[in-house]
Amino acid sequence: MTIQDVRLEEKQQALAELRDIKSLFAARGWFPGTSGNLSIRVGEFEADNFQFAITASGKDKSISTPEDFLFVDQSGQACEKTSLKPSAETLIHSEIYRLTGCGAIFHIHSVFNSIVSELFWSRKSIPVDGVELIKAFNIWEEEAHIEIPIVSNFAHIPSIVPEITERLDPRIPGIMLRKHGIYAWGANAFEAKRHLEAFEFIFEYVYRWELLNRR
Ligand SMILES: [Zn+2]
Repeated sequence: MTIQDVRLEEKQQALAELRDIKSLFAARGWFPGTSGNLSIRVGEFEADNFQFAITASGKDKSISTPEDFLFVDQSGQACEKTSLKPSAETLIHSEIYRLTGCGAIFHIHSVFNSIVSELFWSRKSIPVDGVELIKAFNIWEEEAHIEIPIVSNFAHIPSIVPEITERLDPRIPGIMLRKHGIYAWGANAFEAKRHLEAFEFIFEYVYRWELLNRR
């Protein structure tokens, strides 16, 4: 399947959703210094054949322009003739789509997620106990305990991918890059946004809890 096989309405829907999410998250200060990236998958999915719309590299995400997004295939190559470059971290999106078949992936950098990833780097996961918002991940046990995986943050993005492959936990719709930021995903943009908001709440909670309990 190629991007030409995807209905125009579906592509436009993906771009409209990305635009809305981008301006909402920008207003929250979630894209400092052009960081962060967003993607939504379109068309049919096979693990080795799929397409998604993703933010173009190096754009100011607080403004809207005709150059904000492009469509790429599973290997991160542009599907259409364009001079736009996909986000530098596109290969991480590709790998998460390949492993999960999800519909949308949102990635942001925040002070809380970065600090917490460093705080728990030695155990390679962030432990969370009984916080109500764990339910946002469709985990309904009483006093649930989860571990949010943390992977290395190499400047060379392809080197990060094997750790994602190894550490991604199908029960947890997110993965942290050490001192960098969270990738959160869902079946669609609505679910990915819910997951991302829950992760950010949890990271702030864990940060403040650690602060209160450290002497
Ligand atoms: Zn990033």
